[in-house]
Amino acid sequence: MQRDSLKAWQASSHFAGANAAYIEELYEAYLDDPGAVAEQWQQVFAGLPVNGTVSDVGHTRIREYFRETALDSNRSKTTTVDPELSEKQVRVLQLINAYRFRGHQAAKLDPLELWQREPVAELDPNHHGLTSDDLNREFNTGSYAYGGETMPLGSLVDSLKQTYCGHIGAEYMHIISTEEKRWIQQRLESVLGQPQLDAEGKQRILNGLNAAEGLEKYLGAKFPGAKRFSLEGGDAMIPMMRELIYRAGDQGAKEVVVGMAHRGRLNMLVNILGKKPGDLFDEFAGKHDEVLGSGDVKYHQGFSSDFATPGGNVHLALAFNPSHLEIVAPVVMGSVRARMDRRHCQTGKLVMPITIHGDSAIAGQGVVQETLNMSQTRGFQVGGAIRLVINNQVGFTTSNPQDTRSTEYCTDIAKMLQAPVFHVNADDPEAVALVAQLAVDYRYEFGRDVFIDLICYRRHGHNEADEPNATQPLMYQKIKKHPTPRKIYADRLIEQGVMTAEQVTEQINTYRDQLDHGDCVVPEWRTMAEHSVDWTPFLGHDWNSDWDSSVAVDKLQELGQALTDVPASHPVQSRVAKIYKDREAMISGDKPLDWGMAETLAYATLLDKGYRVRLTGQDSGRGTFFHRHAVLHNQDNATTYMPLRHLSETQGPIEIHDSVLSEAAVLAFEYGYATAEPSGLTMWEAQFGDFANGAQVVIDQFLSSGEQKWGRLCGLTLLLPHGYEGQGPEHSSARLERFLQLCANHNMQVCVPTTPAQVYHMIRRQTVRPMRRPLVVMSPKSLLRHPLAVSSLDELANGTFQNVIGEVDELAPSGIERVVFCSGKVYFELLEKRRREGVTNVALIRIEQLYPFPAEEMAHVLTEYQHVTDFVWCQEEPQNQGAWYCSQHHFWQAIPAGAGLTYAGREASAAPAVGYVSLHNSQQQALINDALNLK
Ligand code: AMP
Repeated sequence: MQRDSLKAWQASSHFAGANAAYIEELYEAYLDDPGAVAEQWQQVFAGLPVNGTVSDVGHTRIREYFRETALDSNRSKTTTVDPELSEKQVRVLQLINAYRFRGHQAAKLDPLELWQREPVAELDPNHHGLTSDDLNREFNTGSYAYGGETMPLGSLVDSLKQTYCGHIGAEYMHIISTEEKRWIQQRLESVLGQPQLDAEGKQRILNGLNAAEGLEKYLGAKFPGAKRFSLEGGDAMIPMMRELIYRAGDQGAKEVVVGMAHRGRLNMLVNILGKKPGDLFDEFAGKHDEVLGSGDVKYHQGFSSDFATPGGNVHLALAFNPSHLEIVAPVVMGSVRARMDRRHCQTGKLVMPITIHGDSAIAGQGVVQETLNMSQTRGFQVGGAIRLVINNQVGFTTSNPQDTRSTEYCTDIAKMLQAPVFHVNADDPEAVALVAQLAVDYRYEFGRDVFIDLICYRRHGHNEADEPNATQPLMYQKIKKHPTPRKIYADRLIEQGVMTAEQVTEQINTYRDQLDHGDCVVPEWRTMAEHSVDWTPFLGHDWNSDWDSSVAVDKLQELGQALTDVPASHPVQSRVAKIYKDREAMISGDKPLDWGMAETLAYATLLDKGYRVRLTGQDSGRGTFFHRHAVLHNQDNATTYMPLRHLSETQGPIEIHDSVLSEAAVLAFEYGYATAEPSGLTMWEAQFGDFANGAQVVIDQFLSSGEQKWGRLCGLTLLLPHGYEGQGPEHSSARLERFLQLCANHNMQVCVPTTPAQVYHMIRRQTVRPMRRPLVVMSPKSLLRHPLAVSSLDELANGTFQNVIGEVDELAPSGIERVVFCSGKVYFELLEKRRREGVTNVALIRIEQLYPFPAEEMAHVLTEYQHVTDFVWCQEEPQNQGAWYCSQHHFWQAIPAGAGLTYAGREASAAPAVGYVSLHNSQQQALINDALNLK
C-alpha cells in the first residue's frame, strides 16, 4: 500500500518522530490533489513506490491547514536540501498557524488589564523547536499575507504578534470555508491589524469619542441621579457605529436597521440618529408625547433619520425595544427582510442589520441561538448581520462573567454559524474602526453574520443611582483611576501631532455649546427623504372601519382554476392529488367549499389585487393538519410548486415558509416584518396553539402593547390551532384566556371563525381594511374537515365577516327559552345534539370575534330574544380558562336587563385538558347537555 511505503521512507529520513503525523497528513492531501502541496513535496511523494490505489483521503482539517499555510504552491519555492532547515520550515508554518488559531488568547483585549489568562505555549517559537539562533534565518511564510515570500523568523514573529496579539483578537479559524479564512487573513495580516487612517479619519474618531463622553457628562451634570444607562467605558461604540454606517453606505446600503438594549441608547439616539438633545432633555424633565397611550421610558425609544455617507444617504431606523434583552434582534431581522422585499433585494445589499448585545445577554438568552439559526434559512435570511457586543464585563446589574456563562468568550455562540468574531479593546478606537470596516466588508462579501466583541467596561453602576463598588470592588478601584477613552485617544493624537491640545479643548467646548443649543449634533444627519413606505393611510382606523369584501363568483372561479391547475410534470402524492381534485369540484360548484379551499382563495384574491402575502410557521406549507397544501412536493424529484405563485403576471408576491422549530425568534421576526410593511398580509402559524407560549415575550412586550408604548402599528395575524378533541393537555388549548386578558384599548383582535366563509372574509378583512392591528385567531383542527363546516362560493362572493352569527335553524324566536352563546367548534357539537334531540327552545349564537367585542351586532341578533331570561355561555375550556372570565362582562352587558347568565363548561382545572379520551368524552358530553338543558 502507498501508506506503507510512506512509513518506510519516513522511518529512514529526518522526518521520523514528531513530524510523522504531520507529514502523513500532508501525504493524504497530496493523494487527494497533488497540486495542493508544494512542488518539493510533490517530488518527494511522486518518488515513493506505488503498490496500489488509495481511496482513504481523510483528515480534511489537516489537509486544509496544509493548503492554507504549509506550503502554498504559489508561494513556496524553497527548495532547501538542508534537512534541519526543512524541518524548521515546517515548524515555522505551524507557528504561523498557531497565531491564527490562538493569537486572540494573548491579545491585549481588556482595557482594564484585569484579565488573567494562561499563557499559550504554542505562540512561543521555542515550543516549536525554534531557537534564538533561528531568529535571523529566512523562512518561507506560506500563505501569510504580510511581507515577502520569505522573512527572517524574528520579523515574522513580531508581525504575527502585532496582527494577532495586539488590540484585536481575531477568531476565525473555526470557519470551514477556506475562501473566508483566506479573505480574513488577507485583510488582517496585510495591515498588521492596523487601519490606514489619515488625519481626517483620526479626527473623526476623536470627534465620536468626544460626543459620546460629552453627552454623558452633560446629562450627568444636568440631571444628576436620573437613569440614563450611561455608555461611559464603551464610548467607542459611537465612532464604531459611524464607521459601520459609512462602510455600509459605501457598500451600497440604503437602509440600516439597528436593535439594541438600553445601555448607551441615549447616546446612540443623540450622537448617531440625530435626535435633538433638546427633545431628550424635555423627556428627562418629564414632558411627553400626547398622542401615545402609555408611552415608554426614554431608553426604550426608537428613532428614524437619514445619515449622509460618502456612498450616499442611508436611512437609519432604531427599533423600539422592551427591557427583555435580545428579543429585539429577531425583530430587527424581520424589519430588514420586509425592507429587502420592498426593494426587491434578495442579497441584503440594500439593507443592513446591526444588532447590539450585552455580554451576559448574548451568552444567556436562548433567543440568540434561535435568531442565529434563522440567519441562513430561506424564509428568514437577510444577507448577514453585524452582531455587536458591548462587553462591559458585568452581567445584568452585578454579576461577574464566571457566573454568567460557561464559555470562554461571551460570543462563543457565533461558532454555531462559523461566524468570525473580532474581539477588540475598546480603548483603541483605531482598532475598533478597522474591525468595523472588516465586519461590514465581510458581511457584504459572504452574506453571513459577523461578530464584534467590543471589550470595554462600565464606568458607573448599572444605572446612575447604583453603587458598583459593593459588588465589583477591584474592578471599580481600577476604573476610578482609568482615563476615559476620549482622553487616551486625544493624548495619542496630540503626541502624534495630529491635533493640538487647544484643538482638543475646542472640540469639547463646541460640543457642549451644541448641547446647550439643543439642536441636532450629528453632522451627517439629514431630514428623512421621501420614504419607501407611507404609513399615513393606515393611521387612525378602528376595527369597525369600512372595507370592501366583494369578489365576484366568476373571479373566484377563475382564481380557483389557476389554483388547481398543477402542471402534469409535477406529480403530487395521491392524498394531495385527491384534495386538489376535490378543490376542482368546489370551484365548479359540485361540492361545498372546505376550509383549505376558502383559505387559499382568500390569499388568491389578495394576491390578485397586488397585495403581498407572507405566511411562516411550523408545517405551514402543508398545514399541520394536512389541509392547506399551498406548497406541492414533486414525488419524482422533490422540487416544489406553489400554485399561489402562478395566478397572473401582475399578482402580488407570496411567500410561505416552514419556519425553524422556534416560536420566540420566529414570531419576533414576523412582528418586525409586519411593523415595517403595512401593505399586505403577514401571518405566523403555530403548529399547535399552545406553542405560542414559547413566544410569550413577543406577545406581551410587542404585539399587545407596541402601539400603546411606541405608536407602532402592526397587522400581524397569528393562526393558533385550538379545540378540545381529546388530544390531551398539550394540544388542545391556544390559551385563549391569556390573549383576552391582554386586550384593552382595541389593541388587537381575537377571532374564532367557524366556517370556511368566515376564515376567507377574516383574512381578507385583515388585509383590505386599512387598520393595522394584530389579529389572534383560534384556528380549528377538526373543523378543517367537518361536514357542517362548509360554505358556498356565493357566501364568499357576497358575504362578509360576521362578528356574531345568529341562529341558523328555523326556530320560532317566541319559543326560545334559552340562548346559548359560544365560540369555536363546540358550536357544531351543540347544533348536532340539538338537532338530534329535537330541541326547539334553545337558540345558538356564535361569537366569532371575542375582542373587540361586537356589541352592536350582538344587540342586533338579540332583538328577537328580548323575552329570554336564561342565557348561557358554553365553552370547552375549563372554567378558569377560555373566554368566561375575561369576556363575561361583555355578555352581561349584551343580555336584556334582569336576565341571568350561567356557565356551561368544564370545571376549573390546572391543566388545559385531560389526557384520557374517555374522560374527555364524558366531560364534553356533560357540558353539551348542560348547555342544552338535557339530562
Ligand atoms: P422607519 O423606516 O422604521 O424608520 O419608519 C419611518 C417612519 O414611518 C417612522 O418615523 C414612522 O413615522 C413611520 N412608521 C414606521 N413604522 C411604523 C409603524 N409600524 N406604525 C406606524 N408608523 C410607522
